[in-house]
Amino acid sequence: EATLGVMGGGQLGRMFVHAAQALGYRTVVLDPDPQSPAGLVAHEHIHADYLDAAGLARLAEQCDAITTEFENVPAQALNTLAERRFVAPSGAAVAICQDRADEKAHFTASGVACAPHAVIRSQADLDAVADALLPGILKTARMGYDGKGQQRVKTRAELAAAWEALKRVPCVLEQMLPLKLELSVIVARGADGQVVQFPVQQNLHRDGILAVTQVPAPDVSEAMQAEAGASAARIAASMDYVGVLCVEFFVLQDGRLVVNEMAPRPHNSGHYTMDACEVSQFEAQVRAMAGLPLCAPRLHSAAVMLNLLGDQWFDGSQERTPAWDRVLALPGTHLHLYGKTEARRGRKMGHLNVTAATPAEALRVAGEAAAILGLPAPTAA
Ligand code: ATP
Ligand code: MG
Ligand code: MG
Repeated sequence: EATLGVMGGGQLGRMFVHAAQALGYRTVVLDPDPQSPAGLVAHEHIHADYLDAAGLARLAEQCDAITTEFENVPAQALNTLAERRFVAPSGAAVAICQDRADEKAHFTASGVACAPHAVIRSQADLDAVADALLPGILKTARMGYDGKGQQRVKTRAELAAAWEALKRVPCVLEQMLPLKLELSVIVARGADGQVVQFPVQQNLHRDGILAVTQVPAPDVSEAMQAEAGASAARIAASMDYVGVLCVEFFVLQDGRLVVNEMAPRPHNSGHYTMDACEVSQFEAQVRAMAGLPLCAPRLHSAAVMLNLLGDQWFDGSQERTPAWDRVLALPGTHLHLYGKTEARRGRKMGHLNVTAATPAEALRVAGEAAAILGLPAPTAA
């Protein structure tokens, strides 16, 4: 029986496991948390740290191919696994995505424009920062997500204080760009080099966390969607990437497309594919790992995804279960919950996909769902 393994047991791993199981694979998850969302649904859950030799040996022993759902899994762990099994994406590709300085260098090397920036590793780097990069955003090179590990700075004094506050770890200072909107694109690349592109999604963030994804992207031209897809494909090819890759872009007020960052795995903004595309991003990951064909995934419905954070489990200070019965009474609603027992504010608990025949109808129903759930309207920042 063919077995697929995944490093990391979060919700992305859980949805990967579901897709793998639907295609008949046995699944094994490695995660230190005995209650991890993916571990709870996999055939086997190895509770071990990511660098634990015995845990890695056990995963390699059981699996035909191994992937990761956790961006910060040590690249060394993937390299160790790759000595025995097919691992996708590779430790080398994941390592690039884990470090904003390396990531930006890779974008540039791939011929894709990113924000003007400087890498700050020393006092001398800090002193040498060009005035043109201010106002800017100082981001830790490693480990940041959901806007954590970032500080907006207007002056050199603020920059120095921000670097101090970030404990002088290696950082990237990016020029603050005038954004018109944000989009992302999922591509999947097979071991044979074939690339398929999912439809581009337009994203709305609130408090640094993805809140709403709309597909088709209402304010993005066909030409720009093709440009984003071609850029993502180049970025993937130039690191010999295998698997699902998400690339985030900014569209600037002057209409230019600029790459922001990438994730070496299925992505929150790609969850709409589960209900609106013929092949989901998770199935695409399974196919890429298993050497199955990657069919171009057609969008069969317009979709709006609402992220469901722990905040929706509270009414003031009172904890409650959201009114799923009322949400599911709306046409085209698809609820995905991640099996997390404890709701915390800001914690990703699930998402709601709304599909419809037209974008306007998807948005209308998503608006009704948002009102029931106590969320702002899907188009409000
Ligand atoms: P994620 O959870 O997507 O991994 P992250 O913590 O890695 O987020 P970024 O994607 O780098 O953070 O930035 C978070 C948000 O901050 C962006 O989606 C965008 O809204 C804003 N932002 C980041 N960099 C810039 C920039 N150079 N100019 C303007 N806005 C920016
Ligand atoms: Mg990020
Ligand atoms: Mg981001």
